[in-house]
Amino acid sequence: MSDSKCDSQFYSVQVADSTFTVLKRYQQLKPIGSGAQGIVCAAFDPLLGINVAVKKLSRPFQNQTHAKRAYHELVLLKCVNPKNIISLLNVFTSHKTPEEFQDVYLVMELMDANLSGIIHRDLKPSNIVVKSDGTLKILDFGLARTACTNFMMTPYVVTRYYRAPEVILGTDHIDQWNKVIEQLGTPSADFMKKLQPTVRDYVENRPKYPGIKFEELFPDWIFPSESE
Ligand code: AMP
Repeated sequence: MSDSKCDSQFYSVQVADSTFTVLKRYQQLKPIGSGAQGIVCAAFDPLLGINVAVKKLSRPFQNQTHAKRAYHELVLLKCVNPKNIISLLNVFTSHKTPEEFQDVYLVMELMDANLSGIIHRDLKPSNIVVKSDGTLKILDFGLARTACTNFMMTPYVVTRYYRAPEVILGTDHIDQWNKVIEQLGTPSADFMKKLQPTVRDYVENRPKYPGIKFEELFPDWIFPSESE
């Protein structure tokens, strides 16, 4: 990491393969993590007298997905303020005009560690509980495992691991339905009778699929021994 450029309010510093152009008040940047949107650095903020996390959203408008992610993160962090949701302290960009607008920096409270050694494996809203005072806790570690050497995980796989099948596989609910019946087979006549007429028409007019046996879909060998 090396200092390179300065102007009145901002200075640039090289962090890994990325250039952070940050407000001068944020000092001693050190990389502490990276995610789908970019690199996160720890920094010292002498104005508040605390260490903070500075997250660079690189070119958040490069496509619709990135733009939506940036927007959701910003809006949600700004709207919610319970003590167990990371607090947003500042947002800035060094770019002066919409034409040159590229990167956005989010400044958050700095945490000490993440739980990347623990794989919860059932993280969902119903396993995140809250109290009226704003306390939020994660529960139900029944399916959890600790990361061990024979369970190699890239950050990409970890993220994927938590994604619901409909998010990974389905472009929409129709596509999701088609994927389900391709695997499980066309539903029985009894099942069809329970559907609303318009839905039944659609389902009945789909190609017929015999379905694949569960043992073929999920053979024993695909489950690592630690999940036995
Ligand atoms: P993100 O792109 O928000 O998923 O962040 C990538 C990684 O940076 C996370 O997995 C954390 O390890 C780390 N990180 C992000 N925000 C903070 C923070 N406020 N304090 C400490 N570490 C953080």
